[in-house]
Amino acid sequence: MKKCMKRKILLFFACSVFIAAVLTAIIAPLCYAQAGTERDGKEVNEYEISVPFEVDIDSLYAKDEEEQPVKPEYEDIASKFLTTDALIRNEFNGAFMDVLESDFSKVYVKLAEYFNYGIMYDVVYTIDPDTDAAAYQTAGRNPLEKKIALNPNYFKANRNDFGVLTHELTHTVQEYRDARYSAPNTSEGGNWITEGITDWSRYTFDRYPFSLPSYSASQSYTDSYRVTARFFLWIDQNIDDTFLEQFNEGLKCEVYTSKLFTKITGKTLDELWSLYAASDHRVV
Ligand SMILES: [Zn+2]
Repeated sequence: MKKCMKRKILLFFACSVFIAAVLTAIIAPLCYAQAGTERDGKEVNEYEISVPFEVDIDSLYAKDEEEQPVKPEYEDIASKFLTTDALIRNEFNGAFMDVLESDFSKVYVKLAEYFNYGIMYDVVYTIDPDTDAAAYQTAGRNPLEKKIALNPNYFKANRNDFGVLTHELTHTVQEYRDARYSAPNTSEGGNWITEGITDWSRYTFDRYPFSLPSYSASQSYTDSYRVTARFFLWIDQNIDDTFLEQFNEGLKCEVYTSKLFTKITGKTLDELWSLYAASDHRVV
């Protein structure tokens, strides 16, 4: 009898363990899914606020590769996300404005996808006749708006240099956490990183010809813009083809230190530059 009781207790215990295991197997994924939904929910809300309109990315890439004329969906992107103010419309003719709008539609989705998890902003194009720059990007009237001012004198003298706008549009979706991003260039951070990536973006995503200068011994990775862009491109093509993707992600998520290069490539920034200098510097 005692033996039987013992067996029953053991059987009950075994059944309990079995049922608990089954319940855990069923409930745990549900809990995880719930937690994931909450996380996803936040992202979705953020996404919905910023991007009130879904874009078929694959079809855009496919159409762009075939160099087809502007399609309605391209025009939709400019009509939904781009505003041109009266100042710029009075300054330039309709043909110029048409190119600005179709270029915006073709490139902005790709930039947002690559640099900003697909989040796009309302962009306002205006002019600034007093700036020394060809164009610059600045904050808009609210957190979801970015403004890009074109120097009308520059564009009248360089009417086809529309790639400048791809550079400025890239800035709208970078939003890096390094507060020193706009500070003077230093080896540990500064705008040479941001401007290097931005010119890499212009080289990669723009449809207009844009050359990156060949390496010379007088260069430094802090030279910024096209020199740094070529260095970053070389790292991507010779050391780690996910470098720029991971670098952009790192700059968005943490305050920059040069350890970010080591974390991604296993090599220090100076080691990478030495390897680049000792190589044939070739990029495609
Ligand atoms: Zn810039």
